[in-house]
Amino acid sequence: MKDLFDLQGKRALITGSTRGIGFLLATGLAEYGAEIIVNGTNVERTVAAANALKEKGFKAHAVPFDVTNKAEIEKNVAMIEQQIGPIDILINNAGIQRRHPILEFPEQDWDSVINTNQKAVFLMIQAVGKYMVERKAGKIINIGSMQSELGRDTITPYAASKGAVKMITRGACVELARYNIQVNGIAPGYFKTEMTKALVENQQFTQWLCQRTPANRWGDPGELIGAAVFLSSKASDFVNGHLLFVDGGMLAAV
Ligand code: NDP
Repeated sequence: MKDLFDLQGKRALITGSTRGIGFLLATGLAEYGAEIIVNGTNVERTVAAANALKEKGFKAHAVPFDVTNKAEIEKNVAMIEQQIGPIDILINNAGIQRRHPILEFPEQDWDSVINTNQKAVFLMIQAVGKYMVERKAGKIINIGSMQSELGRDTITPYAASKGAVKMITRGACVELARYNIQVNGIAPGYFKTEMTKALVENQQFTQWLCQRTPANRWGDPGELIGAAVFLSSKASDFVNGHLLFVDGGMLAAV
């Protein structure tokens, strides 16, 4: 029972893992024994992140590609499977944010958010899922958000995309659980990263957030590691289609 959370011998592809939450999850999974495939669109940042993991003594590979591009996804997933090894764990983490009032939201920004946060999750599951089905084993974790459940000013496409992540998670669970594939999600509350920098620096927002969150504070991205290790490991073999909120209690409070 003591090896329930052990990830030795497992290989994890984490999209958008050059910084922020993705990089922290990469470090966390590596500490539990997983070999990491780092991904991002920026080649230099992807190589630098993989090197940073290697310097800590972990096994890591840099595989830059754009998760909104089906051809690039398929080419790189095939390359990983054939040249690096089977992908045991897929974390769909890459995501972007754009802020505008709904009535003025530029169509192009709507498309970028939906393509990166929503369609890419579907494309990645298709590309990696077929190998997992052949092996009858796999763990897929999709990164949702508070906006998987709650709306908020100026970010309607983000909320639409994260609501869809919840339902892609459930749909994929229903179809893939029979192949011993667990598809779950993690929904982070508010965490201090590059994406939320403007909000962290906004004192009014931070004051509101601390009052609104039962834990009275911002989340530290490292606090997501436990959920990611759990959903990547044997410990969650009968947990499926679940969205685990890591939010200091925010969703539980009015
Ligand atoms: P960051 O902006 O810090 O990092 C985003 C990562 O995604 C980068 O590595 C970036 O790399 C990569 N990325 C962006 N677009 C693409 C693409 N098309 N293809 C491949 N990689 C891409 O974001 P966070 O760490 O804050 O967020 C990570 C996830 O967590 C997102 O899904 C976000 O919605 C979610 N989340 C974050 C919260 C927070 O409080 N920060 C709260 C709730 C959810 P590059 O620049 O090289 O493309």
